[in-house]
Amino acid sequence: MDVLQLDISGRPQSWITPREAAVLYASDSIAWTLGDAFHVLRGGMQRSTGLQSRIEVHPIVAVRGAIPTRAWRQAPTLANPKLFARDRGICAYCGGHFHFDDLTREHIVPVSRGGDDSWMNCITACRACNGQKGNRLPEEAGMTLLYLPYVPSLHEDMILRGRRILSDQMEFLLASVPRHSRLHG
Ligand SMILES: [Zn+2]
Repeated sequence: MDVLQLDISGRPQSWITPREAAVLYASDSIAWTLGDAFHVLRGGMQRSTGLQSRIEVHPIVAVRGAIPTRAWRQAPTLANPKLFARDRGICAYCGGHFHFDDLTREHIVPVSRGGDDSWMNCITACRACNGQKGNRLPEEAGMTLLYLPYVPSLHEDMILRGRRILSDQMEFLLASVPRHSRLHG
């Protein structure tokens, strides 16, 4: 399980391992936490007390320090696993549900015809539909999009990037995900 790292204002920054979180705890870099501790890391014996050092890791940690103003204004980077997760593994043309290995990044306006490689021009398609559409626009191919592309918000991007997300983390992130998002199901 990973730890959700926030800046001090509560904006998500990244997923880190419990071990990386422990370094933040040990250097007193954590301003506040959310959720019940889900992991305990044990260190060496402390000579003065004879007790083993122990760090409790919380699912969400906010780190001290300046807020990076640029990072969260950028659109999340486009990557196939996140694209397929945004579109819930469903082909936009036939509506079939596929394993991620059988999906492709489909450019609605083909790149060869000036379409860009962006969240708004990319959609999830199965190999068969992608092949059938080829180098055409959907209307030229007589194919209709069953759902529309959108740019994920910062909070949604963290969900799309997460591997196994704890319920505390999901609750926190979903609270800030816009209603139009498919993650609300
Ligand atoms: Zn398909």
